[in-house]
Amino acid sequence: MYDVTVVGARCAGAPLGMLLARQGFSVLLVDRSTFPSDIMSTHYLHPWGLAYLRRWGVLDQVLASGCPPIRNTAVDFGFTRMTVPVVPGGEVSEALCPRRTVLDHILAQAAVAAGAELREGFSVQGLIVEDGAVTGIRGRDRSGGVVEERSRIVIGADGRRSFVARTVKPDVYDVRPSFTSGYYSYYRDLPLGDTAEIYVREGQVALLFPTNDGLTCAGLEFRHDGFEEFRKDIEGNFLLAMDSISPELGQRVRAAQRVERFDGEAEIENVFRKPFGPGWALVGDAGYLKDPITGTGMSDAWRDVDFLATALTEGLGGKRDLMEALAWYEEQRNAAAKPLYEHTVTLASLPAPQLAAQAMMAARQAS
Ligand SMILES: Cc1cc2nc3c(=O)[nH]c(=O)nc-3n(C[C@H](O)[C@H](O)[C@H](O)COP(=O)(O)OP(=O)(O)OC[C@H]3O[C@@H](n4cnc5c(N)ncnc54)[C@H](O)[C@@H]3O)c2cc1C
Repeated sequence: MYDVTVVGARCAGAPLGMLLARQGFSVLLVDRSTFPSDIMSTHYLHPWGLAYLRRWGVLDQVLASGCPPIRNTAVDFGFTRMTVPVVPGGEVSEALCPRRTVLDHILAQAAVAAGAELREGFSVQGLIVEDGAVTGIRGRDRSGGVVEERSRIVIGADGRRSFVARTVKPDVYDVRPSFTSGYYSYYRDLPLGDTAEIYVREGQVALLFPTNDGLTCAGLEFRHDGFEEFRKDIEGNFLLAMDSISPELGQRVRAAQRVERFDGEAEIENVFRKPFGPGWALVGDAGYLKDPITGTGMSDAWRDVDFLATALTEGLGGKRDLMEALAWYEEQRNAAAKPLYEHTVTLASLPAPQLAAQAMMAARQAS
């Protein structure tokens, strides 16, 4: 019997497990992945998100991975191009774009160092429900054996296709249409220095982010009605899109060496899920999912992890009624997330550059 079981041990799950273990709770952290491993993401981290890692004492390890600091963003709207400094957040003044192979491993190890028990290669396939409340998980471990574990609460930190959410079927709200598809890959010899580049055109956004090992993450978002056609020739269409956005951008990407396969997604929902109920709670993409165009999925996850860790510490520690504490978590999450959510959805509609410029300015102020 654990205090807390956390399903999913990446950006949301691992820090939550770490914070609760530091408070003295017994934490079981399970993930069907093994670490280090990759997951789909262009992994840009805003300073205000990194400020959580700094506060939790794990930022130095991310910096030590050799991930280059990003101090500026060059935004090309076609009609104009501007370079602006990244907005500092907390006591962090630079953005970062660490590979998920690096970041998620650091976070999982930090949870273990704090005392959480991590079981990798463990796939959760059922929730144990007794008297209307979730009381545990059922899954298969690495050897294929069926295992049941019980805890006072089960947390779904299991990403945008959350098994926990699909099982508990929470109410959803503020649902917005899904607009975009995207593909990205990694290039050598596409130097950026300390500046991320974003190209905004009607119906398309291209991005270049500097990441670990001297590589550049190059990505494209486009309207998802073009996805089936695009995927017939991913590289050819990716390069044609770069050419059409800016001939100079196309030349630079063509001259660089692609070193990994393309990864991509047909569409991503924009939705809030009620993040708690009897014996369960949701955090990260499992609880609140949105288009990646503002690069805020992980920064948002850390803010919400911080709220949820406070709620669970008080609720499980007997300082406050658990359901009341979780209702507070939902209120805090929504109040913090909603302004940026609306700007994200506006940007995800890939409007004309003039409108996108206004939404980007508003998103910059809201973050
Ligand atoms: C194309 C794309 C680009 C993005 N770009 C950015 C960006 O630039 N910046 C940014 O901040 N965010 C970005 N995001 C969003 C970001 O990747 C997510 O917000 C973030 O990964 C959410 O973290 P999480 O821990 O909630 O879920 P995830 O990172 O998805 O982790 C969930 C974990 O749960 C595990 N799991 C799932 N089901 C089970 C199960 N049944 N049993 C056991 N384990 C399970 C999975 O193996 C996984 O390890 C992007 C997303 C996409 C799709």
